[in-house]
Amino acid sequence: MARRNLPVTQPVNPRSLMPVAEARALSQVDLPQLGTETIALGDAVGRVLAKVPVAKLTQPPFPASAMDGYALRADDLIDNRAELEIVGESAAGHGYHEQLQPGTCVRIFTGAPLPPAANVIAIQENAQPLSDGRVRILKSEPQGRYIRPAGGDFEKGRELAAVGTRLTPQILALLASAGHTDITVARRPVVAVISTGDELVSPGTIPGPDQIISSNAMGVIARVRAAGGEVIDLGIVADTKEAIEQAFGAALAQGAHVVLTLGGASVGDHDLVKPVFEAMGGELDLYRIAMRPGKPFMVGRLKEADRELRLLGLPGNPISSLVCTKLFVEPLVAKLQGAQIVEGLHLGTLTTPLDANDEREDYTRCTATPRPDGGWDVQPFPKQDSSLLHVAAAANALLCRPAHQKAQPVGAQISFMFW
Ligand code: AMP
Ligand code: MG
Repeated sequence: MARRNLPVTQPVNPRSLMPVAEARALSQVDLPQLGTETIALGDAVGRVLAKVPVAKLTQPPFPASAMDGYALRADDLIDNRAELEIVGESAAGHGYHEQLQPGTCVRIFTGAPLPPAANVIAIQENAQPLSDGRVRILKSEPQGRYIRPAGGDFEKGRELAAVGTRLTPQILALLASAGHTDITVARRPVVAVISTGDELVSPGTIPGPDQIISSNAMGVIARVRAAGGEVIDLGIVADTKEAIEQAFGAALAQGAHVVLTLGGASVGDHDLVKPVFEAMGGELDLYRIAMRPGKPFMVGRLKEADRELRLLGLPGNPISSLVCTKLFVEPLVAKLQGAQIVEGLHLGTLTTPLDANDEREDYTRCTATPRPDGGWDVQPFPKQDSSLLHVAAAANALLCRPAHQKAQPVGAQISFMFW
């Protein structure tokens, strides 16, 4: 069994349980480079920046009013008050560009350019228009208030976001305002998904005797897509060497960077992912992960010409496959895009006591509910069997316990992640 490039110094004992963090690091060793592409901003939400975008212009390009009111000169004020001739109007898109003369002011609206020489805004609530074309300023604002200076948002040439940033709607708006119409992002990793099992039929099919609907791919694929992966669903594959080999061949032929197998990862007579992958020339490591839910987990790589296919072999139990996707596949898909990964662990208050656990980390389906004091109440579901999708669907979070944690009373502070 090939064990090159492992991020661990000790030889791995296949019988021992590997901590989640170690298994995750292992799955991310020596990832291939996927390159970059330039796409329209409108298509870029969720993508990962591959090149720093620089502001092509200054925003705002001119000093502008932030309120409706009057633009005037500070020199005309006595005790913050004045009576001034209204000499014109500055509206958004239609500015007043003449030098403001002593004793005069300009009616101004939000977003409109400030006339030259104006340096004070009086908001309209504090002004009384008079019948003779003048206005009585009852109270003006301090100089600068409600005036947006030129470049107050950003100056031309400013770096707007760092490489590795996942593009949010607000970053896209920033880039648009800085003159960008397209953006250079990391290519999406192509992720092939193989559901293994003789008992499986596709959603939409009525299961026959001994059959169940294959549900794992539905959840796993949604998670991979949300993480930025481009998915090839290779469907259900029978528990035969030929069918599994054909599916790996299809993943390679279709240019996948990653292949996920769901099920067939144990060492039973019908668990054929490992022998087939190795027979095809794949270098493969099989691990038992110290987590619950979770079973054997495979990490492998198959080289073909100058390309490499990374295998993550996930357990078949529905909740195990989803939790492993969250813990291993989502970070892998993010890392392949060069994304900065934020773990997203929170602290909450336990509302049900927990017994001591064992050598496995627990990822327990729970509800996290906001408390009036700004914290969270965390309530684990009593049933945690890794086949129970109705529990997984009702849970909005996973309570995260390290291995060998002692019993936890009600009120204990405990880590959780939304999922
Ligand atoms: P395996 O890892 O192949 O031994 O499967 C473990 C359990 O998960 C068995 O009860 C399988 O029937 C179930 N299972 C495997 N694959 C799927 C799937 N795609 N959808 C739903 N259940 C599955
Ligand atoms: Mg199976």
